[in-house]
Amino acid sequence: MERRKPINVSDAIQQITNRAEQGTVETVPLFASLHRYLAEDLIADSPVPPFDRSAYDGYAVRSADTAAASPESPVYLKVIDVIGAGTISERTVGANEAVRIMTGAPIPEGADAVVMLELAAEMEDRGRSGIVLKRPLRAGENLSRRGEDIAEGERIIERGSPITPGMMNVLATFGYDSVKVYRKPVVGILATGSELLQVHEPLVHGKIRNSNTFMLAGQIQNAGGEAVNYGVVSDDFEQSYETITRILSEVDILLTTGGVSVGDFDFIPAILERMNAELLFNKVAMRPGSVTTAGIYGGKWIFGLSGNPSACYVGFELFAAPLIRRISGAASYALPARLKAELLEDVSKPSPVDKFIRGTAESRQGRITVRTGGLDKSGAISSLAETNVLIAIPAGTKGLKKGDQVEVLWLNSPIKGMMNFD
Ligand code: AMP
Ligand code: MG
Repeated sequence: MERRKPINVSDAIQQITNRAEQGTVETVPLFASLHRYLAEDLIADSPVPPFDRSAYDGYAVRSADTAAASPESPVYLKVIDVIGAGTISERTVGANEAVRIMTGAPIPEGADAVVMLELAAEMEDRGRSGIVLKRPLRAGENLSRRGEDIAEGERIIERGSPITPGMMNVLATFGYDSVKVYRKPVVGILATGSELLQVHEPLVHGKIRNSNTFMLAGQIQNAGGEAVNYGVVSDDFEQSYETITRILSEVDILLTTGGVSVGDFDFIPAILERMNAELLFNKVAMRPGSVTTAGIYGGKWIFGLSGNPSACYVGFELFAAPLIRRISGAASYALPARLKAELLEDVSKPSPVDKFIRGTAESRQGRITVRTGGLDKSGAISSLAETNVLIAIPAGTKGLKKGDQVEVLWLNSPIKGMMNFD
């Protein structure tokens, strides 16, 4: 096989984003649409609110009748009707009349303002109920005008936006019982390595449990994909080849972990070559995860991720996650959100290539801080459990000092102090 030529991280990401396309569209119930990406623009086909309505519990009045109201000369209005939300008054409010009205009810004919219940003293006058007002009301006061929130024809939400709880309210308002979203890509996970035990198996000397599959399952779901577990294959070329080609017929994306380096039993590069897959890259100038490999075969994507858990983690977040976000429909997807964070310790070693250190970010009194997670070796897992960001250290950066501001990539995981997780 040819010597591997490293490309830099941003070129590698671009290799993927150049080719990534939003996936096909499906319809899901609005109730279960959270975090999916909208596959159509939302255009208001009616105004919101749909009619002039009361913003408070109170009385609908004609503002002109209240013009002279003051504490010294209060105005008396006769109450001619009572309506709650969902009810319409048949009456027209005439001179010195009012309709008792509840929040959300349509403003009756003739009225142009609402006085809040608390500001209207009720009183009986010769057996007829009425109210007394001590101050004037402006026309339009305390009511919500038809279309003041959203005008008919307005484009409210763009295709490719992530569905939030608030957006679910807006969609419901416009009658979307179900909603068009992009289909989640099906992402298969295949762990390779003759040393791998199944998770439930007891440890034996020389073997370790397959842990990457489960980390990747979480990462895939975080990125918006549907994870499928294809278990473990041992380091056998023919068996791995056969398994990989079979899985590719069932998934949109296949992630393999392990077998991607230059060791005697690292077959993934040779398998891609034998398949005649289009190779996007097989070496990236970065640490960890330099051997991360990406290819396309028959419209399906293959990522050869390192077996080293931390390198596998980083390779996924930088290259596979953007693709999953894009197929899931995200309009902006290339990299995770970048935040500035204050480093809580020195990170002394300079690096000739881009470095991505697993970090734990926290929000402390409005500042975001970040600490690295212990042993910084690509094979280490202790740092992974609390990782919620990658500290991005560009090639050539001199040693960083405690207190320095660094750029971190946020990985869609809870940040202590900002979210419900303590
Ligand atoms: P490889 O990329 O196959 O050379 O593996 C690199 C290192 O990662 C070795 O120490 C492997 O034992 C370890 N490793 C490989 N696959 C996994 C996995 N699925 N879970 C945990 N560790 C793994
Ligand atoms: Mg291996």
